[in-house]
Amino acid sequence: MILIEKIIMKRIAVFPGSFDPITKGHESIIKRAIPLFDEIIIGIGENAEKDAYFPIEKRIEWIEKIFSNYPGISVTKYKGLTTDYCKKVNAKYILRGLRTSADFEFERSIGQINKKLYPEIETIFLLTTPEHTPINSSIVRDILRHNGDPSEFIPDEVDL
Ligand code: ADP
Repeated sequence: MILIEKIIMKRIAVFPGSFDPITKGHESIIKRAIPLFDEIIIGIGENAEKDAYFPIEKRIEWIEKIFSNYPGISVTKYKGLTTDYCKKVNAKYILRGLRTSADFEFERSIGQINKKLYPEIETIFLLTTPEHTPINSSIVRDILRHNGDPSEFIPDEVDL
């Protein structure tokens, strides 16, 4: 019985973030993670919403469009601790991207705390591909604030 449960147990990962907006860097991490998991849930944390640049519904809509042909990928918003959300959806993995050593320091602490909060969780890091390393959502927002064109850094489906 235990063996059967293990065999049919889906490997579900949550990819948490603000995705404000989703970039080609995020997209690349998600697509590279497809072979690793049965299901990837892109989770937009609502905790920092007051500072958000784009409305959450818009961010969800863009992500839905990008992954409309990928049945194993879904997007949702959530409130509260990421580990509580993972428990709720039965995810045993948190997916994160690593760009730089600064990312590593930040991620190490969150990852270790998340493991304390939910010992069954494993954080899986994928190293960013070199061409995506300098891209981040806050640079995209800065370019927009100053009337620049960030389109080369974001997926085509993101119609700003
Ligand atoms: P947060 O709200 O935690 O800053 P983001 O929405 O910026 O989250 O990013 C979510 C995840 O995507 C993080 O793991 C981050 O490291 C990763 N990420 C962000 N930008 C890139 C990129 N250019 N290449 C690869 N991973 C990235």
